[in-house]
Amino acid sequence: MEVKIGLECHAQLLTKSKLFCSCSTDYHNADPNTHVCATCLGLPGALPVVNTRAIGYAIKIALALGCEVQEETIFYRKNYYYPDLPRGFQITQYDFPIAFNGLVRIESDSGDGSKEREIRITRVHMEEDPGRLAYKGTIDSAKYSLVDYNRSGMPLVEIVTEPDLKSPKEARIFLGKLRSILEYLDVYDGDLEGAMRVDANISIEGGDRAEVKNISSYKGVERALLFEITRQKNLLRRGLNVRLETRHYDEVRGITLSMRTKEFEHDYRYFPEPDLVPICISDRVEAVRQEIPELPDEKRKRFLALYSITPEHASSLTYDLPIAVYYEAVASKIDPRLSATWIADVLKGELNYRSISMREASKRIPHDEFVTILRSLEQGVITERGATTIIRAMLDKGGKPEEIIKIKGLASMGSEETEKIIYGVLKDNKAVIADYKAGKKETLNFLVGQVMKHTQGRADPKEVSRLIRDKIESGV
Ligand code: ADP
Ligand code: MG
Ligand code: ZN
Repeated sequence: MEVKIGLECHAQLLTKSKLFCSCSTDYHNADPNTHVCATCLGLPGALPVVNTRAIGYAIKIALALGCEVQEETIFYRKNYYYPDLPRGFQITQYDFPIAFNGLVRIESDSGDGSKEREIRITRVHMEEDPGRLAYKGTIDSAKYSLVDYNRSGMPLVEIVTEPDLKSPKEARIFLGKLRSILEYLDVYDGDLEGAMRVDANISIEGGDRAEVKNISSYKGVERALLFEITRQKNLLRRGLNVRLETRHYDEVRGITLSMRTKEFEHDYRYFPEPDLVPICISDRVEAVRQEIPELPDEKRKRFLALYSITPEHASSLTYDLPIAVYYEAVASKIDPRLSATWIADVLKGELNYRSISMREASKRIPHDEFVTILRSLEQGVITERGATTIIRAMLDKGGKPEEIIKIKGLASMGSEETEKIIYGVLKDNKAVIADYKAGKKETLNFLVGQVMKHTQGRADPKEVSRLIRDKIESGV
């Protein structure tokens, strides 16, 4: 049964002030209701003034997503009452959004052998964020709601996809790609709480769609969609209808709950916002286009061609712009393939483990010191294990590679010293050697382990393994 998923993604823009007033957008660590004014509280008589930088950011996003930017754009009133929207309407866009018809490529199996899928973008429009409601416990059990208007009037772009996504996993991959593009454009910071909120629409062949509103994490989107597939399949299997409805995702319980039957456009009584004039945007497009940097797809292709690294490494190294920049700095000084392995496979893992960003990490290990570590490895001064130890130590406690090599005694053992230890271990393990010769090849691991114990990791295990095999087989 075919699954269809379409996403409506709301991303907060990194402007200094809100969309229609001069309140600061820097509220994420502030006390509730401290970043507000008459306009974003919706007090009578307060008038909106459009933040032109926010419009520029939205155009930039539309261009980066391959959309057709429109001649002019118009704000509308979407009328509904909710405690997080004190004015009784949200200023958003309707018939004249910023742009239509874009395309995002994601890495996913297409089924026809290619590893890439195209997800069509329906439209990109702007709107203001409502305030934020907070509940004690869960939404359906709390006795009252709390409201914080700091978020009210934050500039959002809404990016709507066609129902081209085929699985919850693809939805997550798409959101990751979108985040990557928005961060490259320097108009968005995905680390900020609530920076991206997604409405996920999902249907299964033969049934109506459900819309799960306001999910605030990528994992949440994937889990909510997985839950919906099971729920909808069970209904269809029992011959029941999937209702066209709006659902809520309960993050704590990992389930979706019915909120209301689906609302329709006419319910909102959209009409053009009389306090704002239509805005001509076509004359800004060329200037904005000049500001668009090399995007993840182009960078990935360039890395592949320029550095001869694997496609996996090229993807991994271009997902996050600070990592791409760091990689290029290192790869310009030392073997790009060695750099790719150590940044994509080792450094990124250590960062994930510690939940620290590349920006932070590059303060703790400046790229020239990363080069020093790799050079020491290349020259055999340290082993791979030694290099990992240095990276971990620098991330946790700082310091310089040379000092850490000395303090922790990481310098690799000379071959003479290593051979001496190997002889010792072979002498003490005659029975094991006999087993090895009798065909129990796995005993080799035991011998390597013994040697590594004596060298305290200062020898290269692959090399040790080779030496032991040589020695036993040549009967030494
Ligand atoms: P609304 O604004 O009322 O939610 P739209 O027609 O604008 O409705 O669609 C919103 C989202 O729903 C889009 O992302 C679209 O791709 C998705 N969508 C539309 N039809 C389906 C469907 N049959 N299954 C899954 N998603 C769908
Ligand atoms: Mg919708
Ligand atoms: Zn304000």
